[in-house]
Amino acid sequence: MSENRRVRVRFAPSPTGALHIGGVRTALYNYLFARRHGGDFILRIEDTDSQRFVPGAEAYIIEALKWCGIEVDEGVEQGGPHAPYRQSERKDIYLKYAMQLVESGDAYYAFDSAEALDALRKQTEQQGGTFAYNHSVRTQLDTSLRLSADEVRSRIERGDQWVIRFKMPENENVEMDDLIRGHITINTSTLDDKVLYKSADALPTYHLANIVDDHLMEISHVIRGEEWLPSLPLHYLLYRAFGWTDTQPRFAHLPLLLKPQGQGKLSKRDGDKFGFPVFPLRWVAPDGEAAMGYREEGYLPEAFINMLALLGWNPGTEQELFDMNQLIEAFSLEKVSKSGARFNPDKAKWFNSQYLRRKSDDELGQMLLPMLKAEGIDTTLQRAVRAAGMIKERATFPADLLPLTRQMFVEPEQYDEKSVAKFWKADNVTRLGELADKLAGYSAIEAATVEPEVHQWIVDRQYSMGQMMNTLRIAILGISQGPSIFEICEFIGKDDTIRRIANAIGRLGKGK
Ligand code: GLU
Repeated sequence: MSENRRVRVRFAPSPTGALHIGGVRTALYNYLFARRHGGDFILRIEDTDSQRFVPGAEAYIIEALKWCGIEVDEGVEQGGPHAPYRQSERKDIYLKYAMQLVESGDAYYAFDSAEALDALRKQTEQQGGTFAYNHSVRTQLDTSLRLSADEVRSRIERGDQWVIRFKMPENENVEMDDLIRGHITINTSTLDDKVLYKSADALPTYHLANIVDDHLMEISHVIRGEEWLPSLPLHYLLYRAFGWTDTQPRFAHLPLLLKPQGQGKLSKRDGDKFGFPVFPLRWVAPDGEAAMGYREEGYLPEAFINMLALLGWNPGTEQELFDMNQLIEAFSLEKVSKSGARFNPDKAKWFNSQYLRRKSDDELGQMLLPMLKAEGIDTTLQRAVRAAGMIKERATFPADLLPLTRQMFVEPEQYDEKSVAKFWKADNVTRLGELADKLAGYSAIEAATVEPEVHQWIVDRQYSMGQMMNTLRIAILGISQGPSIFEICEFIGKDDTIRRIANAIGRLGKGK
């Protein structure tokens, strides 16, 4: 294996449904690795399992990668020197390779019907065993290892269905290296004879197509989920059988994404149960069942990929916020952990709020303006920008911008019960009236001047700052929370400020 070979990695999803966030993370790590090493990132669609093919899944995968900012160099849309990149369009390539293995004695024809295999499976189970198609049975079954060459030929010619199976060596230790897990040894006696090719649909299975394509596409590193680790010995043996060991890619198996609580792999059901998405984009399955997506729930793609990148990889420092370029700079497979990474929905929200507050007031105002308009609030972009700027640190999602600013544009008609119960008291309301008189004396409310003066006024009268400010907030915003109240008074103007105070007293009364 040459160390200075060009880095070429692939993301090779099967279009069997929406892409789980674990799959997005695999794509992301491949992409970061490719960019880090100035290499190529390839998208190959592995659609040879016609039974599991789901229409719309490929388009979904492509859109999801685009939304994440993961740019494909070669793939079904881009084309490239090894096109086509959809395995169903490469059908004609694979048979020759399967036959090559039959000729070299590394594979064989098997003619067993599904019924015969089922019967055998049942029989073994009745005897307390588990059926495995391996060295112990292959010479007794309908295979080219038992039948004569003439028999095999005539069966094929008369149209019998056949498969080509890999002839797993007996009792041999396969020595493997994984860039994350280190050295692994597996004895082949624990492995069965996997199907490589099926005459029924003239298609290869995953194992054959995957190895042949990785070889033909000159893939240097295979970075994929841990669930493929059990296939690694077979893949090593396939490279050896083909005589491709010298250019065999290096392997890295990524840790699982675990449930927020308890053991096990993060599943779609966890998302439904706890109300967070496990897919990047909303997905509507062909049967109409819908699943929520990060995009539609208001996550920013930069927050989403930052959060995903840190699930299983750490930069070795305390830094948590990384944009794509910083991730590319910092990423290395050595810092990917062996153990599973627990998914934390609260942390996902935290990342989103961090990225949201990093947006300029202009961008946030652009997001807010249509939300205000949709509520029938007629205002200018300039005012939306100003309002958004005041509350951005309090928002987690873009959709939060509206409830956090609504009352800056329309006077409250209802008041938060808890706030009222706590602060709307006779003394406070009387003092609020005094404050309104004081404010009326200004020609305009400018927070920079009015705020220190009002504070001093409160201190001089020995009023409680907290009680006073929260009572004012209730009158202006309907709730005793929010950003600097004087900035809001400046924003709504002197007249509106005084009117809101008078109306609140009118509606809520003088307090008890
Ligand atoms: N088609 C496989 C999948 O769906 C690819 C596994 C691999 O990367 O080798 O995950």
